Amino acid sequence: MHEFKYKGDDLYCEDVPVQKIACDTGTPFYLYSKKTLENHFAAFDTAFSSVKHITCYSVKANSSLAVLKIFASLGAGVDVVSGGEIFRALRAGISPGKIVYSGVGKSSTEIEYALKSEILMFNVESSQELDLIDCVAGKSGKKARIALRINPDIDPKTHPYISTGLNKNKFGVRIEDALNEYKRAVQKKQIDVTGVACHIGSQLTDVTPFVDALRKVKEFTGELSSHGIHLKYMDMGGGLGITYGDEMPPDPSDYAGAIIKELGNHGCTLILEPGRVIAGNAGILVSTVLYKKKSGAKNFIIVDAAMNDLVRPSLYEAYHEIKPVRKKQGPHIAADIVGPICESGDFLARQRDVPDFMPGDCIAVMSAGAYGFTMSSNYNSRPRVPEVLVDGQRYFVIRKRETYDDLISNEIIPEHI
Ligand SMILES: *Cc1c(COP(=O)(O)O)cnc(C)c1O
Repeated sequence: MHEFKYKGDDLYCEDVPVQKIACDTGTPFYLYSKKTLENHFAAFDTAFSSVKHITCYSVKANSSLAVLKIFASLGAGVDVVSGGEIFRALRAGISPGKIVYSGVGKSSTEIEYALKSEILMFNVESSQELDLIDCVAGKSGKKARIALRINPDIDPKTHPYISTGLNKNKFGVRIEDALNEYKRAVQKKQIDVTGVACHIGSQLTDVTPFVDALRKVKEFTGELSSHGIHLKYMDMGGGLGITYGDEMPPDPSDYAGAIIKELGNHGCTLILEPGRVIAGNAGILVSTVLYKKKSGAKNFIIVDAAMNDLVRPSLYEAYHEIKPVRKKQGPHIAADIVGPICESGDFLARQRDVPDFMPGDCIAVMSAGAYGFTMSSNYNSRPRVPEVLVDGQRYFVIRKRETYDDLISNEIIPEHI
């Protein structure tokens, strides 16, 4: 459950009217509920309390320092996919011993930084990466703890851009090739083989693919044991879906129940990497209607947020519910909600039944707490929007709106031009 609810005609985040923040901060902005972030994390983590586990929140979903600090206070670990995310996680007080590092393209600089930071383990995605980690660890005088990310070839039945566990996807090592890689890994002096990892996709709305993947991973660890390779950690990735529109994903307790049942009395410590399920419905994007225009039979509502602020509708044709920040009486219209960017793909919603919004009305783009701000850009030289966190009756700007000067702060015009 989330904390964005109407009291009377006004949309509230916890105990603060969204309209009040919009008036104080200006729009567009991202708005997060601290209570929702905490509740979602706790619900997920407690669901696994009967087994040895670490909940490693996936930083790329929402990497704001204040958000990470909230999870750090709850004892969370994190899943990172870049050196920059390690930096953020450490700054926010996440314990390095609870950081797992995934991604197909780790550079030697990033590997060195991760080793220096003493992270829990690298989720290795190719044999060349394994060799590079071994080499960098040698130079750094460190031993690298690793898991191999295996690709179980399971169809997660989600959008093709967010499916990751099929042989045609770029992620992980094919399960058929994994045994050989483990045999290579245990020979390496600078490598400490500690785990196995897998992550099959995002926004899954059914437990079956998770259970199927776990079964394959379990069978595989059995095979490893028979070759004398014993693991400490089994990382089952993230991917649990949320309700954007009419999806009915399993709740964390059903998901955990199915996983724990399949796991049986396996001795490994389980690692989970939830992102969207924690942050997605803990945030919204608030925007103001600029203009309304009609083009033949079509209505366009032009708002001040755009695809550079929230790219999911353009990138994945993702659905986000649009709600009025202040409820309006009167008839609804069918309209496309579009932004100011010069691209036809710049829309937040298409053919939606919405109140007959007028210029100046604020709208809430719901379920925008994950893969919202983190995927935003400066396209069309639009300063990135602020992020605001509500805590009970108070709210805090946790990231300032960028200025025009910020836009050009790293640019250099060569002197002779
Ligand atoms: C993105 C990602 C996650 C988080 O996925 P969600 O669908 O947000 O839960 C977890 N693990 C890895 C390796 C990822 O790339």
